[in-house]
Amino acid sequence: MRERTDVLVVGGGPAGATAAALLARAGHQVTLLERERFPRYHIGESLLPSLLPVLDVMGARELIEKHGFVRKTGAFYGWGGQEWPLGFDEPGRPAAYSFQVIRSEFDWLLLQHARAQGADVREETRVRRVGFEPGPGSGEGRDRAAVEASWAGVGGAGGRIGFAHLVDASGRAGVLAARQLRTRRFHDVFRNVAAWTYWRGAAPLEGAPRGAIGVFSLPDHGWLWAIPLHDGTLSVGLVTDKRSFQQARAAAGGSLQSVYDDALARCPRLAGMLAGARQAGPLKTESDYSYVSEKFCGPGWFLAGDAACFLDPLLSTGVHLAMYSGLLAAAAIGSVLRGEVDEHAARGFYETAYRHAYERLLVLVGAFYRVHDGRDAYFRTAQALSSRDQARLRLHESFLDIVTGTEDLHDSQTDAVGAFLRTVRRPGGDSPARGLGGHGTSHMLPLPTTPRQAVAGLYLGLDPHPGLRRAPSQPV
Ligand code: FAD
Repeated sequence: MRERTDVLVVGGGPAGATAAALLARAGHQVTLLERERFPRYHIGESLLPSLLPVLDVMGARELIEKHGFVRKTGAFYGWGGQEWPLGFDEPGRPAAYSFQVIRSEFDWLLLQHARAQGADVREETRVRRVGFEPGPGSGEGRDRAAVEASWAGVGGAGGRIGFAHLVDASGRAGVLAARQLRTRRFHDVFRNVAAWTYWRGAAPLEGAPRGAIGVFSLPDHGWLWAIPLHDGTLSVGLVTDKRSFQQARAAAGGSLQSVYDDALARCPRLAGMLAGARQAGPLKTESDYSYVSEKFCGPGWFLAGDAACFLDPLLSTGVHLAMYSGLLAAAAIGSVLRGEVDEHAARGFYETAYRHAYERLLVLVGAFYRVHDGRDAYFRTAQALSSRDQARLRLHESFLDIVTGTEDLHDSQTDAVGAFLRTVRRPGGDSPARGLGGHGTSHMLPLPTTPRQAVAGLYLGLDPHPGLRRAPSQPV
């Protein structure tokens, strides 16, 4: 292990592998430390079409295309009493498909790709703590720069590594935000629980686009996902709010399996698909999983992917946000290393661009839950973003930024934010479900690649390598 590296990446999931591959590809010295040995299990199997441009920039598109993952050409919603298929091949979409992936394989391919681009990737090597430059007071992460990390490997190996820039892509573990700086805040509105497993022998989802994810709201509370995978299994998960889950589990004598089985039974579509199938493994669970860090970057450090924020899985946005932020971090750091912009400006760009992308999707998820037509008032009101939550999360400001600042949203009559706007303007009005594009929302996360889309005076250049460009100043 080197004693010093230009860029240290913590975590080899999609966020870390993207940042490492892009920076190494641009000729920078990158070291990536990953706690596990890959391939390792991970949830998060349904990907958005907006991932394809990022794979292109990384040079990893072909690798993923030829692996044999299920091609996802759309989504199918049975939501709020309506059913509708959504194909990705509608006009105006940047890509007509995405993939349903077995994450152990997908993540392994990306990590191998980072290695092939020249990143020094060390598996089974855990970052224990990030060190900040010495100084008075408790300014670490705020005004004192991150400068080194201590690590532990197998067989008692360990040491320290210095760096110029750190990308913390350690996922939910959150080395910096959750453990050291304690800047992670959980969203009260999305305190959900997920329980999922895999099925063999399931029937296809009739009437859905090829390889589609199925998303089904339950009549009283919660929703289910169904994701076809290339090993022939179907990933089937239940998401419900924590209170309903605890009540259902208590009523079922503590049996998680009974809660899950009961939920399936309340969804005739899915129950029909699983009638001749068998459950291929035990249930897995995750809870309380939506959060955001107060800061996404500071002197010497950037948080990417789940290390910065996590959104309810309803719209399958996690891997996209992870790779999108990996790309933004690589562009910001690459530009600083090449002397194109100063670090302060690069951090301003990153903080704003990533937070906008996240908050925009947060608004969408809130809108989607809002149109849940269930009978349980708790689920509906708890999952809708209350005005207090909106104020706390600056959603109003962020929403105004979105609708006034970005070209792609001006033609909002048919897109998801347009639908959300209409529900905001006419509470209880229209039948908005059809307008909520959900899994087709690739255009909701445009790469800010033109001067008109500049964020904090900077926009993203992709050629020859990701970097930041200054937008020409506007006439006063
Ligand atoms: P991760 O993929 O978690 O990678 C982080 C890596 O860091 C891990 O490999 C870990 O081992 C490593 N690490 C942790 N600590 C350390 C340390 N101290 N030192 C070194 N390495 C460390 N997303 C979708 O896109 N589609 C979906 O359908 C979807 N469904 C979901 C369903 C559920 C129930 C949940 C909870 C999430 C879902 N997600 C989905 C979200 C998705 O799983 C994540 O957003 C995505 O994995 C984030 O990628 P990442 O690279 O930021 O983090």
